[in-house]
Amino acid sequence: MFEWIKRRLNKICSPALDWVQIEVTTYCNGSCIYCPHTIMRHSWAQKHMPMELFCTLVPFLEYTDLVYLQGWGEPLLNDHLFDMLRICKNQGKRTGFTTNGMLLNEDMSRRLIDLDLDIIGISLAGTSAKTHDRIRKGTHFSKIISQVETLCKIKAEKNASRPNVHLAYLMIKSNFHELEEIISLAKRVEAKQVVASNLSLIVDPKLSAEAIFNDTVHTDYYREILDEIRDKAAREDIIFDYHGPGLDHASLRCRENVRRACVINVEGEVTPCVLTNPVLSSYYIFNGDSLPLTGMSFGNLWNESLTQIWNKEDYTRFRALFDPEIKREPEQIRSEMPQRCLKCYKRLGV
Ligand code: SF4
Repeated sequence: MFEWIKRRLNKICSPALDWVQIEVTTYCNGSCIYCPHTIMRHSWAQKHMPMELFCTLVPFLEYTDLVYLQGWGEPLLNDHLFDMLRICKNQGKRTGFTTNGMLLNEDMSRRLIDLDLDIIGISLAGTSAKTHDRIRKGTHFSKIISQVETLCKIKAEKNASRPNVHLAYLMIKSNFHELEEIISLAKRVEAKQVVASNLSLIVDPKLSAEAIFNDTVHTDYYREILDEIRDKAAREDIIFDYHGPGLDHASLRCRENVRRACVINVEGEVTPCVLTNPVLSSYYIFNGDSLPLTGMSFGNLWNESLTQIWNKEDYTRFRALFDPEIKREPEQIRSEMPQRCLKCYKRLGV
């Protein structure tokens, strides 16, 4: 009886979310020069999310539009990834993940198409092998693009419209000149969307100068090029999504959708965004200062349901900080905001 009441309450109070992002692994076969996985390699905890933990989430998927199996690792390394995707699809969910593309062989592509995966994001940091391979070490541009082309060929053979290919381009100063080619590349691999993201978490001080938002002398140049690419993409019916290029120091809004989405890390911790994932524990650079990188968790799925965690007072109060409907003085919001969010480049709009 008690279990039945608990299940009913969970159902009634479950949040309606736009998406849930689930970190299925922290293992990675790449060594990107900017990634915490590479920079913190001596202390990095490599783990796969066990099926048992993933299954605790299943009752809550009902209230979620999209399930994205992504965290600080390469999802295709988790042997249970296909079982997890199948569970999500059987629940009628839109499902996707982002990959570095290295393991996306023909067999893998066929299985993903047969599963009717909705979105596959491909991570890039250049539109030439020379640039991409220098930044995303351990991954190879030519191989990735050829594998995505094979995926497109199989889709055509099977007359399948999914998965939609998205390109995720990390834009930094030393690869920005290649971004203009991204739309031609997107056409080549039939990508429907390109997301150009910033180096919003700087773990290695040497990389501060690579963040385009730190290159304030050239902000107008970056903006002009980004706007041009956006217009070119629109003519090709491709969505080009980008933020910045400059910082908005007055902003009190989080660029992540923290009010209608959450991240569940490899250990079951429920956290607002990837930057507050407790797997990150080191230092990061913000405005020239080295600050402790500590995680934020509102609860763990091994102990509580997602509904219970979502409805906790401290989590509700946290989300209210980013609610534009709640009118409060900026100073009051700042005084209540966690340090991690106060000192976060994503809050400043990049
Ligand atoms: S402000 Fe930054 S750290 Fe805080 S939730 Fe948003 S993205 Fe995450």
